[in-house]
Amino acid sequence: MVSPQSFSKQPSEVSFMKASESTSLYFNQAADKLKMAEWMRKLLITPKREVTVQVAFERDNGDIETVLGYRVQHDNARGPMKGGLRYHPAVDLDEVRALASLMTWKTAVTELPYGGAKGGIAIDPKTLSKKELERLTRCFVDQIHEIVGPDTDIPAPDMGTNHEVMSWFRNQWEKYHGFNPAVITGKPVEEYGAKGREEATGRGVGILAVKLLKRINVRPDQCRTAIQGFGNVGSHAAKFLFESAFPVIAVSDLSGAYYNPKGLNINELWSYSLKNGNRLDGFEGAERLPAEALLEMDVDLLIPAALGDVITKHNADKIRAKTIIEAANGPVDPEADAILSNKKILILPDILANAGGVTVSYFEWVQNRQHYRWTLDRVRQELEKTLSDAFENVWQQSAIHDVSLRTAAFMLAISRVQRATELAGGAV
Ligand code: GLU
Repeated sequence: MVSPQSFSKQPSEVSFMKASESTSLYFNQAADKLKMAEWMRKLLITPKREVTVQVAFERDNGDIETVLGYRVQHDNARGPMKGGLRYHPAVDLDEVRALASLMTWKTAVTELPYGGAKGGIAIDPKTLSKKELERLTRCFVDQIHEIVGPDTDIPAPDMGTNHEVMSWFRNQWEKYHGFNPAVITGKPVEEYGAKGREEATGRGVGILAVKLLKRINVRPDQCRTAIQGFGNVGSHAAKFLFESAFPVIAVSDLSGAYYNPKGLNINELWSYSLKNGNRLDGFEGAERLPAEALLEMDVDLLIPAALGDVITKHNADKIRAKTIIEAANGPVDPEADAILSNKKILILPDILANAGGVTVSYFEWVQNRQHYRWTLDRVRQELEKTLSDAFENVWQQSAIHDVSLRTAAFMLAISRVQRATELAGGAV
C-alpha cells in the first residue's frame, strides 16, 4: 500500500494557481477590510495538509486503470474538517485546494462546528460501470483511510458522487476502523443517512432566495428565474422555487436550455428527467435553446448550479440578471465579480448560498453520533433556521461595513476562524 503521507506536499511548496487564486482574492478583499496582519492571512490560507494518491483499480475487462486521487485538509480550528468528494475529469490539486478552503469559510459562515476539506478523483464517473465505480471508491479509501475519521475529517457527496458512493466509502473505511457511520455523510437514508440530505443543497438555495427577495422587496411571483444545471442542486432548487410561486422560466443541462417565458412546469421536467436517465434531452414541453443562452437571459434571478467559473470577464458584460445566487461552487470568478458589482448586480455568494448541503450533513453526523433519528420536518426546520440566521448575519455585516454580500460573508467567516485559531493558541 502506498502511504498517502508519502505524497504530501509541504506548505512551502504550495503553488497558488487559478482556482485557489480566485478564493485567495476573495479572502484578501475581506482580510483587507478586517485589517488582518499578513502572517495571520498566510496562516489561515495555507492548507494544513494536501494529499495526492495513486488510485489503481480494475476495469471490468481485467485492465488496471491508474488515476490520481486528492484530499486537501484546509483548516480545523473550528472543528473536524468537512467537505465533499468530487469525481470529475477536471479535478486537480489546485481545484481541490480552492474547494477545501471554501468549505472552511462555508462552515464558519453558517456556524457549524467544523473546519474545511475537499477531495476528489480525476475521472469521469459516467464512463465507469457500477462495479468499476465501487472498486475505484474502495481503492481510494485504501489510500486515505488513515487521514479521515468522524473526529478528524468527514467526507460527503459532491459533483459526480452520490449516496451509493458514500455507502461503499463507509463500508471500506469500517473494515480498517470498525463500525462508525459518522465517518461520512450523505449516506443512503436506509444506511444511517439523514432524511432531507439529498434535497438539502437545492432546498437551501430556495430558502435563501426567498429570504433575499424579502430583503429587496420583490415578490416571488414577480421574480423570473433561470437555473443553470438540473443535477441534484439545480433540480431541487427549481422544485422548491416552483412550489414557492417563482416563475422558473428556464433551466438547462448539457443538452440545452429549456425555456418558457410564462414559467416552466418543473414537476413535468422532474418526471421527464427521472425517466430519461437524469437528462432533459428530448423534453418537448418548452422551447429549446443552446445551453449557453441561459446565462445571458433577461431574468430577475440567475442561479448557476453547475460547474465553477461559468461567469468570467468574457461573458460578465452580457449578464442581464438583476440578482445571482451562486448554487455552484465558484461560478463567478473575481474579474467577473468586479464587472457585475459595477453593474449593481446583487450576488449571494457560494459559501452561504450552497451551504444547505453541509448543514444537513452536520445534522446527519449529529444523528449518527447520538444514535437517534430526526424526522424530515425537524431536518427542514433546523435547516431553515441555520440558513436564515446566517443570511441575516451576512446581510447586517454587509450593511454595517458597506461591502458586498461576498465580502461580508468572508469577513464573518475568516474572523471566526481567526478567533478560534487564537483561542486554541499553539500556532499563535
Ligand atoms: N459537497 C458539498 C459542498 O460543497 C457538501 C459537503 C458536505 O456535506 O460535507 O458543500
